[in-house]
Amino acid sequence: MTQRRENIAYSFRLSDEVFIVGSGRTGLGISDDYDCHIYLINWGESLGLIDAGGGHRDSVAQILSNVRAAGFDPAHISTLFLTHAHADHSGGARALQQQLGLTVCVSAVEADFLRRGDEDAIGLTVARTAGFSPPDYQFQGVQPDRELNHGDTIPVGSFQLKPILTAGHSRGSLCFLLQGKQLRYLFSGDTLFLGGMISLVNCPGSSLDDYRRSMPRLEGLSIDALLPGHGGFCLRKGQSHIGMAIQAFQGLSVPRSII
Ligand SMILES: [Zn+2]
Repeated sequence: MTQRRENIAYSFRLSDEVFIVGSGRTGLGISDDYDCHIYLINWGESLGLIDAGGGHRDSVAQILSNVRAAGFDPAHISTLFLTHAHADHSGGARALQQQLGLTVCVSAVEADFLRRGDEDAIGLTVARTAGFSPPDYQFQGVQPDRELNHGDTIPVGSFQLKPILTAGHSRGSLCFLLQGKQLRYLFSGDTLFLGGMISLVNCPGSSLDDYRRSMPRLEGLSIDALLPGHGGFCLRKGQSHIGMAIQAFQGLSVPRSII
C-alpha cells in the first residue's frame, strides 16, 4: 500500500552541523505551506532550531517527524532562535515550547509583540488581507524565555552564535552568525536572500532607511553559507550575495525586493 504523502518525513542535510527540517511553499515543501525554512543545528551535545514556522495545522508535528528523519531526537532540541516575529517564522514557537520545553529566544525589539500576540505589529493583519496567510490561520503568541541584543554572544555546545540586529524587513530582525567546524553560516531570516535581494514589505516596522543603516553590519563576515528564511540558499561564497545587496544600496534605485 502506498504511504500517504503527508505521512512521509523529509529532511535535507546541508552539512554535519545544519539540516533543513521545515519549509513550505516558498521553499522545499516539506512541512506546512505557510512555514518558512526551519534549520536544525547540531551543536554536538544538544540541538537548536532557527525559526519555528507558522504553527498552522500539523506543522509542528511534521517538523518534529522531519527532525527524527534527520536522525535526531526532538527531545534534545534545547533552544529556538527566532529571526523575527512574523507569523510564518514564530507561530510554531508556543507549541514547540510546550512540547519540548525549549528556550525561546527573540530580539528584544520584538519580544513584546509575541507576548501580546499582537497581529498588527507582526504584520499578520496585512498578510491576511493580501492572501499571504491561510484563511483559517490563528496566531499563537508565546512568552519568550530570552531577549537577544545586538552584540550578544551565545555559547551553544562548543559553538558560538552571534545575533546581528539588521532592522529593515522588520524593526527587530536578527541575522545569526555561526562559526561551525565545517563552514561559517549566516541565517539571514527575511533580511537578505540570494542575489542580494531584500524583503521590504508593506507592514509596520519595514523600512528602507533601516535597511540602509543595517546592511554595513553584514560586511566582512566572510560567510560561506547564506541560509535565508525562504527560497534558495547556498553553502559557498555566501558573502558575495551580501556584497550584491551592499552594492545595491549604493545605487539610486530601490534594491530589488523578493516580494
Ligand atoms: Zn518576515
